[in-house]
Amino acid sequence: MKYCTNCVMPDSKPGIVLDERGWCNACRASETKKTIDWDQRWKDLKKITDEVKSQNKSFYDCIVPVSGGKDSWYQAMIMAEKFNLKILCVTLAAHIPTTEGIHNMNQMVKDLNIDIIKITLKPSVYRQVRSKCFVRQGEPNWAEHCAMFSSVVNTALLYDVPLVVWGEDIAFEFGGLQRQTSTADAIKIDKSDLIKDKTIHNWLDDDISPRDIFFYEYPDYERLNSAGIKSIYLGHFIPWYGRRHYDEVVKRGFKARQAGPLSGNYLDYDNMDEKLCEINIWFKYLKFGFWRSTDQCCYDIWNGNMKRKEAVQIVNKLRDEFPQEYFEDFLRFHDVTEEEFWEVAERNRNHDLWEKVDGKWELKYPVS
Ligand SMILES: [Zn+2]
Repeated sequence: MKYCTNCVMPDSKPGIVLDERGWCNACRASETKKTIDWDQRWKDLKKITDEVKSQNKSFYDCIVPVSGGKDSWYQAMIMAEKFNLKILCVTLAAHIPTTEGIHNMNQMVKDLNIDIIKITLKPSVYRQVRSKCFVRQGEPNWAEHCAMFSSVVNTALLYDVPLVVWGEDIAFEFGGLQRQTSTADAIKIDKSDLIKDKTIHNWLDDDISPRDIFFYEYPDYERLNSAGIKSIYLGHFIPWYGRRHYDEVVKRGFKARQAGPLSGNYLDYDNMDEKLCEINIWFKYLKFGFWRSTDQCCYDIWNGNMKRKEAVQIVNKLRDEFPQEYFEDFLRFHDVTEEEFWEVAERNRNHDLWEKVDGKWELKYPVS
C-alpha cells in the first residue's frame, strides 16, 4: 500500500497507478483539467443544448437525476437557468432520508421551480437486492447505483426526453478502473466503477423475480440510440468541484448536516441526504484501507484548497471513527443482527492491509 505523493490516495484503490513522480490518476487528471479550454467546452455544451431545443421533440428538453445533494442541485440549476432547458428532475426515493435530505429536495424544487418524478422502488425487492449485495460483496449500495442509472434512463425513454445530464465522470475525477480520460458520453454509465460487470440479472433468485426489475434493468444501447437519447457528463463541460457547488446552493437554501460532520467525515455537507450510504462507504476502509476523510481531503487537494500535510493529519485523526450514527437504521433496514454484520465485515477485511495488534485491528500502512 503506497500513497500518492501529491494527495493522500493509496494505490490499494482499484485502478490507481502511481506515476514516476508518485502521483495518482486523479492528481494527473487535476493537472489535465488545468489545460482544458473550459470556454470552448461551455460552447460545446451550448451547441448540444441548442440542438436539443431545436428538436422540440418532447415536452422536456432534458432529464437531470437528483438526490437533493449539492452536486445534483447545481447540475439542475446549470441546465435550467444557464441553458434555459425545460428540465425534468428524476430522483430515486431515499428509503431512509435524513431531515436535511428532505428539506434540501423540497427546497431545490421550490428554488428552481421544476417538475420532479420520484421513483420509489418496491420495498421488499429493494431490501432483498441491497441485502444480497451487502452479504455477498460487502457493497449494499450497488443496488441503489444500479437502480438509479437504469431508472433515470428508462424514464428518458418513457417520456421521450432527448438528453440526460449526469454529474461527474467518477473514473476521470477520482481515478478508477474505467477510462482515464475525460469524455462527455455517459451512455455506458451502467458499466462504471459503481456497477462494474454485474447486472440485476446476477441477483435473480426465489426472492427477486424478473417481473420486479423494470427500474433496475438498463436499456440496451441500440434502443437508446434509435430513440435519439443522448447521455452526457456535465463534469466534461464545466470544472467539477463539490465545495463550489455547496457555496452556490447554500445561498439558495441548501442545509448542511445540522449536527456537524458524520463520524469519519470532515465535511458536513457531503452525502448526508440519506442514512444507508455511510456503512457502504466505510466498507472501503476494510477492503482498500481508506474511506470518507481520504476522499474528502483528496478532493480539496486536487482543487488547490488543502496541503497534503494537513490532509495526512485529518485522515489519521478521522479514519478509525466508525459510522455509528445510522448503524441501527442499517441493521434494521437489512434485517441483520449486529453479529451477522460483523461476520460480513470481517469477511471483507483485506488482510494484506490490516493486522491485529494487541487484539485490535490496525491498518498496516497508515498515510504519513
Ligand atoms: Zn494523488
